[in-house]
Amino acid sequence: MQIDIITLFPDFFRGPLDYGIIRRAREAGLAKIEIHDLRAFAHDRHRTVDDRPFGGGEGMVLKPEPIFECVESLNVASRDERVLDQARETVVLLSAQGRRFDQGAAEALAGMDRIVLICGRYEGVDERVSQHLADRELSIGDYVLSGGEIGAAVIVDCVTRLIPGAVGNEASIRQESFTAGEAWSPEGPRATCTSGGLLDYPHYTRPAEFRGIAVPEVLSSGNHDQIRRWRRRTALEKTMRNRPDLLHDAALSEEDKRLLTQIAERGS
Ligand code: SAH
Repeated sequence: MQIDIITLFPDFFRGPLDYGIIRRAREAGLAKIEIHDLRAFAHDRHRTVDDRPFGGGEGMVLKPEPIFECVESLNVASRDERVLDQARETVVLLSAQGRRFDQGAAEALAGMDRIVLICGRYEGVDERVSQHLADRELSIGDYVLSGGEIGAAVIVDCVTRLIPGAVGNEASIRQESFTAGEAWSPEGPRATCTSGGLLDYPHYTRPAEFRGIAVPEVLSSGNHDQIRRWRRRTALEKTMRNRPDLLHDAALSEEDKRLLTQIAERGS
């Protein structure tokens, strides 16, 4: 996969993309990441990339020309090709007004051959970029950042770890929070369960007792079915407590539904 990041602050990415799974994926040739300095595409002596907003108002807006020219220099597929369902290339504008980026969006991007990420700054980016150049606008959450760089790093991190081979243990990815699909995975160890769109279950490691706080007994029981049931129940409890919205779209079995009723009754 080729990832291109267009930014006013290329140095920002020294660090975030150089550790752990992303670093290994880059070294293994699974992901090639290139950073492009938007200022290199400015034409005037002062290398201007922003200007005042038409209609008045606060702040500065990133001009369209350098961004269009930078994307065009990358030889990506045309926008008409990129909007097709089977497209393998995408140009993304990072924007607080975009669709919210989530695990499902990450999975869709992980199937691409090429991802170009445009980072905005100041008051934002001339709207013609979103309408005529990018094929999608993504937000990493309902809050306003000062620039798209952190969002781009979030997307690269999430997507890179989904590339087959990037994470040593593929089963561990399927089991994580938000990952859609069946809750029970026949391939995984019998004691684990996939989240089926819920939050992950709680994890513990040694020591078995830390400052007087013991690890739940069932985890040392060796009874895989009991462990799996405990994990599912605690995942359901945690989801109900912290993210009840996820329950609507989760893949819930009849047993899950019974457990949820029990949890709700105990809580009230
Ligand atoms: N005026 C805009 C915010 C501009 S912030 C608004 O109110 O919607 C400047 C830049 O930061 C944006 O162009 C975008 O690239 C980035 N940015 C801000 N919040 C973001 C978010 N939640 N997700 C992704 N990018 C964001």
